[in-house]
Amino acid sequence: MPSLSEVIGHDGPRRLLQRLVARGRLPHALLIDGMPGSGRRTLSRGLAGALLCASMVDGDACGTCQSCIMVAAGTHPDLVELPHDGDAASDPSVDLVRDQVVAAARESPLIGPRRVFVLYGVERLRGAAANALLKVLEEPPAGTHLVMTTAAAAGVLATIRSRAQLLRLQPLGVAELERVLIRGGIAPGLAAARARSGGGSHRGLWRDAEDPAPISALRRLLEQGIDSGTVADAVAHLPSREPRNEDGVERTLAAEQRLVCRRWLEQVLQSLRADLRGADAVRAADRIERVLAAIRDLQRNLQPRLVIESLGLSLRN
Ligand SMILES: [Zn+2]
Repeated sequence: MPSLSEVIGHDGPRRLLQRLVARGRLPHALLIDGMPGSGRRTLSRGLAGALLCASMVDGDACGTCQSCIMVAAGTHPDLVELPHDGDAASDPSVDLVRDQVVAAARESPLIGPRRVFVLYGVERLRGAAANALLKVLEEPPAGTHLVMTTAAAAGVLATIRSRAQLLRLQPLGVAELERVLIRGGIAPGLAAARARSGGGSHRGLWRDAEDPAPISALRRLLEQGIDSGTVADAVAHLPSREPRNEDGVERTLAAEQRLVCRRWLEQVLQSLRADLRGADAVRAADRIERVLAAIRDLQRNLQPRLVIESLGLSLRN
């Protein structure tokens, strides 16, 4: 479940945010500055989880209320997360900012007292998109929180930067990187070796893995419903096994992820089918149904990340 306490590293900023949230003193706009792969996204989602939680504990998400479950599943109506800068076609367009942020901010939150907008890589915001966002930044409606991230605060338009509280993240230490990798399914020995070459960021450490999240580990994580966001993160960092199709044209990142994700789900299916002969046949049949539904979702071009996250939740219930 996204929460501040699940963030690895960044103890100072994390505790500061928890204190501010607990006292209801978090500034309406926050600019999180850190290198890519240093955990800006996990911190942003954890903060969103804390702000939206219905039974907050010490300024952090409880992890069990309906709001927390919806944040984890990516279905909370008061959480708007604009595309991550690792996603394809991710430049925040003016339409996206207008429709998803400006228009939504005018309306009251649907569930709790707050509404959270997460915008990644705001140094890319220019022109009309930046102007649209400024309207919200200048007069944030009550209960509205904007959590923005950047890899270069100096590159963010001064008009945006000056209206947000800056929070700088340090690069992750080797031990912290190792924990991030292990949580993402990398074997401990391999994780330790990779972490040493990380330079403070987990970017690039997932690729070229022999098997970054082996099928047994993926299945175990999914079945236990443990932090399906982490599983989805691992999926998002999968190496591309077939980078080119017959025409030699590069597949889009999303299509590759969908392909690899689908292959894994098919392997999960195979092993579940073997369980049909065992004592737990009814349970296995039920799970097969759910995995098949996830495969159908992938075919409908839903984001692999969302598909895996909701499968993780559904298998746990
Ligand atoms: Zn909660």
